[in-house]
Amino acid sequence: MRSWTMKSMVFCLLIISSYGGWAQTGQGRAKALLEEAKGYMAKEDYRAADKKFRQILSLNEVVPTEALYFFAFTLEKNHQLQSSRNFLNKYTDLTGKSGEYFNEAKMLQNRLDVLAREIEACEYCDNDGFRLITCSQCDGSGHIDDKCPLCHGFGEITCHKCLGEGVQISKNQFGENVYKTCDVCTGKGKETCTQCRGEKHVVQDCPRCNGLGRSGSDVLCNHKEHFIIPSMTQIKN
Ligand SMILES: [Zn+2]
Ligand SMILES: [Zn+2]
Ligand SMILES: [Zn+2]
Ligand SMILES: [Zn+2]
Ligand SMILES: [Zn+2]
Repeated sequence: MRSWTMKSMVFCLLIISSYGGWAQTGQGRAKALLEEAKGYMAKEDYRAADKKFRQILSLNEVVPTEALYFFAFTLEKNHQLQSSRNFLNKYTDLTGKSGEYFNEAKMLQNRLDVLAREIEACEYCDNDGFRLITCSQCDGSGHIDDKCPLCHGFGEITCHKCLGEGVQISKNQFGENVYKTCDVCTGKGKETCTQCRGEKHVVQDCPRCNGLGRSGSDVLCNHKEHFIIPSMTQIKN
């Protein structure tokens, strides 16, 4: 009798644990991650919470609606204001006035609006409020010079007409070869590079700052002209 009870208990435990396993593969996985994210939010570890939310999104499942609000909240804390607004909009679009976090969402919206106004009035920061600094890759010029890929920086390429021979060969009426100095390269066998027009380099928009010469850093702006840029400041990626 006793051993039978033990057996059925073990059996029940097996069912419970395997059910838990199934749940983890479906919506339950997202829910579990959301709980973990909320746990980090309670500890004000918004970096860790952010990672959990990104895991939820990468599941390619239906995201629990409330996760959209909590992710927006987390993004605002991490100063990713535009992303925060996007997720907040998704939340309010989906839930309307019946959202469980309707009031909280409204308050977050107000905070984002205040920050957006400060940022818009400031000429020294990017759209997320990070201080703009001179791009170190292009020294603020917005463009970078590259060795011309066609002539490899020589400014000249092989003459397209004589293929570098310097002479043009044709046949006369007797079928004999007639040699004539190439009129494109005047016998040199080379012509001015068609890509850089002999400049030897090509100018491209700086990929680091997209040609703007300055870029948002990893330091938050004080929205004042006077700002001491910390020595370790780098462009935000
Ligand atoms: Zn140049
Ligand atoms: Zn060239
Ligand atoms: Zn030629
Ligand atoms: Zn640049
Ligand atoms: Zn600013």
